[in-house]
Amino acid sequence: MQFARVVEVYDKIEATTKRLEMTDHLVRLLRDTPLEDLDKVVYLTQGRIHPDYMGIELGLAEKMVLRVVTHATGLDESKVNRMWKDKGDLGLVAEDAISARRQKPLESIPLTVAKVYENLDAIASESGEGSQERKVRLLSDLLGNATPREAKYIVRMVVGKMRLGVADMTIVDALALTFATKADRDRVEQAYNVSSDLGEVARAISTKGLKGLDEIRLKLFRPIRAMLAERLETLEEIFKRMGKVALEYKYDGLRVQAHVSRTKVQLFSRHLENITEQFPEIVEGLRTAIRGRDAIVEGEAVPVDSNTGEFLPFQEVSRRRGRKTDVDRMAKEFPVTLFSFDCLLRDGEDLTPRPYTERRKALEAVVGTGETIRYSTSRVTESVKEAEKFFDEALQAGCEGLMAKALDSPYEAGARGFQWIKFKKEYSAALSDTIDLVVVGAFAGRGKRAGSYGALLMAAYDEEADMFRTTCKLGTGFDDETLRKLPEKLKGARQDRRPARVDSKLEADVWFNPEVVLEVRGAELTVSPVHTAAAGVIRPGAGLAIRFPRFTGRWRDDKGPEDATTVKELLEMYRSQLKRTKASP
Ligand code: ATP
Repeated sequence: MQFARVVEVYDKIEATTKRLEMTDHLVRLLRDTPLEDLDKVVYLTQGRIHPDYMGIELGLAEKMVLRVVTHATGLDESKVNRMWKDKGDLGLVAEDAISARRQKPLESIPLTVAKVYENLDAIASESGEGSQERKVRLLSDLLGNATPREAKYIVRMVVGKMRLGVADMTIVDALALTFATKADRDRVEQAYNVSSDLGEVARAISTKGLKGLDEIRLKLFRPIRAMLAERLETLEEIFKRMGKVALEYKYDGLRVQAHVSRTKVQLFSRHLENITEQFPEIVEGLRTAIRGRDAIVEGEAVPVDSNTGEFLPFQEVSRRRGRKTDVDRMAKEFPVTLFSFDCLLRDGEDLTPRPYTERRKALEAVVGTGETIRYSTSRVTESVKEAEKFFDEALQAGCEGLMAKALDSPYEAGARGFQWIKFKKEYSAALSDTIDLVVVGAFAGRGKRAGSYGALLMAAYDEEADMFRTTCKLGTGFDDETLRKLPEKLKGARQDRRPARVDSKLEADVWFNPEVVLEVRGAELTVSPVHTAAAGVIRPGAGLAIRFPRFTGRWRDDKGPEDATTVKELLEMYRSQLKRTKASP
C-alpha cells in the first residue's frame, strides 16, 4: 500500500477531536490496508514500530534529524535552523523544508508502507560502530522520496513524537468494526489485554477472525495488562459486597510483573515497559527463588532501609534510570524488596482463569522467599473487627492500607472492577488521598519564578470521550530546583496550540500534549465554572476543581496519561465527600 494513503488519513485524524470520527477514519484505512501491511499500519498509528514492551525506541537525536533534513533538501543550514526555532516541531520543519526544496530528486519513487516500516525498523535496530551513519542513510533514503506531508510523519516518528492522539482503545474499536462487529469489541480488547500487542491482535483477527483472537494466550516474556482495583471507603462496605475475603497489605511502591524461566528474568512495569535493568537485586532474587520451570509473578517493589528494615519513600527508586554503574550503586544503597502477590503462569500453565486462592497457593509453591523476594502479608477473614486490626498493622508496617481480593476471582487482565478493592488510610477525610493528574498546560512565572512556570494546568482523563479535562492549576509543592527545571523537563511534550484531546476553558501560555503524570494531593473537590472536568454534571456550566492542590514530589513516570485519575473517579470522590459532609453535624 502507498504510504500516501496512510498519511492522508493521519491528516484527517489530526484535524478531529471526536473519538467517533477518529474511529471512522481508522476503519476506512484498515479496510483499505492489505493483510501484509496491517500490523505495520497499526504500529505506525501508535507511533511505534513494535509493541511497547519490547522497548525498541526510534528516538533519533533531533540535531541529527535536522542535519538529514538539511542535507535531503539542499537548503541552507541556517534557514532550516530558523524554521526549527520558529516551529518547535521537527515534523513541520521537515514538511516545509521538503516543500521549499531546491532540487526535486530526479527519480523519486513513491513510498510504500512496507518501505517506510522497513527503514524505520532498521533505524531502530542499528547499533554499534558506524550505526549513526547507517541511520542517517536510512532516513535520507526515506526523506529523499517523501512528499512534504509524508516527511512530516516520518520525522515525527523518528524523533519519537508521533502523537496522533489515537488511544489504544480507539484502535481496538476500529479493529472490531473492521473485522467483526461492534458487539465483539470486548473480545478484541481482551486479546489486547492478554498480549499487549495490537499488531498481533490485528494479524489474528484479520486472518482468522474471532477464532484467531482465542488463540492469543498468555506467554512468557510478553507482559499482560495489569488487573486494577476499585475503591471503597469503609471496610463495612467491602464486606457487604464481598463476604469472606482475602485481605493483603497494600504496599506503596512500583508494580512489577516478573517473567521468570530458569535462564532468564524480565521485569515489566505497570505501563508495560521493560524495567529489568533497573532492578538487578530483584532479578538476582528471583533467579534463586524460582522453584518451578517458569512463572509469571506479580508484586509491588518497595525500597527498604537495610539498616532499620523500614520502608523508604518510593522516590528513592524512581530515579533509577541511566547508567548501569549508577543503578548498581543505588541498588546497594536503597535495595528494593518485591512483595509478590499473584502468580499468573506456572510451568507453562495459564493460571489467570483460576480463582485467587489457587493462584496464591501456586505463588507460594513456585517462588521461595529471600532477602529481596517476599510474599505480601495476607489474611482471609469475614470479620470487620479482624480487618480493622489487620489494617492498623498494615499502617504500622508502613503500608498505605489494604487490598481486598475476592477469593473466587480470576485474574482479569486490564480490567478495573470490584474483584479487587483498595482501602486506604485517609479515606475518611475529604480528598486526602492523592490523585494522579496530567500536565496539559503551563502559565508563565512571575517574580521569583520568572523564566520558569508559575503554575501548571492539570487535567483528569475522561475515558468515555478519550479527552483530558482540566481540574486545577498546580503551583505549590515544587522545590526550587524542580521549578527551575520544569520547562526543560516538559519540553518534549510542548505544543504550539491546544492539543485536540485537551478540553480547557483557560488559555494557557504554553500547551503540552498529555503525557506527563504528576501525583497531586488536594484538600477537597469543589464545583467551579473555570474547569472542564465533569462539566455540567453537577451544575450547568460548571466542572469539578481540586482545592489547594499540591505536588507530592512524585512524577508518575510509571503511568501513561490514560492511567491518570479519571473524571468518573473525581465524580465518585465528590459524591462521597458530599455524603460525608451532609452526614456530619
Ligand atoms: P491504579 O493502579 O489502581 O490505577 P495507583 O497506581 O494510583 O492506581 P492505587 O490506586 O493506590 O495505585 O492502588 C493500586 C496499586 O496498588 C496496584 O496497581 C499495585 O501497584 C499496588 N499494590 C500494592 N500492594 C498490592 C497488593 N497486595 N495487591 C495488589 N496490588 C497492590
